[in-house]
Amino acid sequence: MSWLACELHTHTFHSDGKQSLSELAAGAKALGFDCIALTDHNTMTGLAGKEEVERENGISIIPGMEWTTFFGHMVTIGLDRYVDWRPVGPGDIHAGLAKVHEQGGIAGMAHPFRPGSPMCTGCYWEFEVSDWNDIDYIEVWSTTFAPVKNNNARAYRFWTDRLNEGYRLAATSGRDWHHQEPTDEPLSVTYLRLEDNDAPLRDRAIQALSSGRATVTLGPRLDLEISREGTTYGIGDVIPGLPESGQTFDQEHVSAVQLSAVQSSFVQVLATADFSVRSGHWELPEQTFTLKLDSNQGVLFEGSLLRDLPQITAEVPAEELKWLRAELWGIIHGVRTLIAFTNAVYFE
Ligand SMILES: [Zn+2]
Ligand SMILES: [Zn+2]
Repeated sequence: MSWLACELHTHTFHSDGKQSLSELAAGAKALGFDCIALTDHNTMTGLAGKEEVERENGISIIPGMEWTTFFGHMVTIGLDRYVDWRPVGPGDIHAGLAKVHEQGGIAGMAHPFRPGSPMCTGCYWEFEVSDWNDIDYIEVWSTTFAPVKNNNARAYRFWTDRLNEGYRLAATSGRDWHHQEPTDEPLSVTYLRLEDNDAPLRDRAIQALSSGRATVTLGPRLDLEISREGTTYGIGDVIPGLPESGQTFDQEHVSAVQLSAVQSSFVQVLATADFSVRSGHWELPEQTFTLKLDSNQGVLFEGSLLRDLPQITAEVPAEELKWLRAELWGIIHGVRTLIAFTNAVYFE
């Protein structure tokens, strides 16, 4: 497995951006990204010359498009061909999602709670989603210094509510990058965890995101592993439920079985923050960070994490768990906020 530092929401002058694909790619490379998704509004013409731009800048470009409608914006990535967004009204988003999935692409809600017109036409999501299994991810952090913005906090809670309902939905960040003006504000990175095989990188990236093998940060890359009965699971994995025992045992045996059931209702959690990633592209003051393990049962663990001691192990009860994620809290740019979060590990 290897990690890919991605910026998943960008524009060129083929829509309302003020940059060419080449300028965008060079800017992303200079900021330490490995990969960008080009998501121009309702067009894919900006991808012309993609391979040459990739070669020149040493960066991967995932083809995509942002469906920009009066009822919401939807980021679609991994498409080969333009998908017509125009027939889709507020009540038939699922027909549009089907067209994206037919091509092997995936789709996510873009900045779902950003204020709408006149600031941004149709930015606020009003499409009626009847089955959340059709949505692959939610862009919970949008623009720069994302976690301090109210609409992002609301999107994060919205994602959490869907997880609590049992949907296995990924969460990402997206700068919605339109021009190359420098900024001092912290930038979000979505790291995708790719399988090591011979498939094209773009296919592996899409596979990683649709499986939820993603972790989002303003700085250090946060990872999460959960062990149960000798098997280790990672972000996006589903931990199978314990098999029900239908057998009968003598009294002594029953006790042993019950004891082992109680023991295995706990899982071992390992959370790790890698402070070496994209070295020089972000900074955090010396401090004691807070690491939280959040779940559908609330926060199950809270502990201190230091740059020199960037790992935490915990044992948490797995009963009634649907999902678990790690969050790193601390001070950045003088504000105490969420600095990084992992996608969820799921429980059957
Ligand atoms: Zn948008
Ligand atoms: Zn956009």
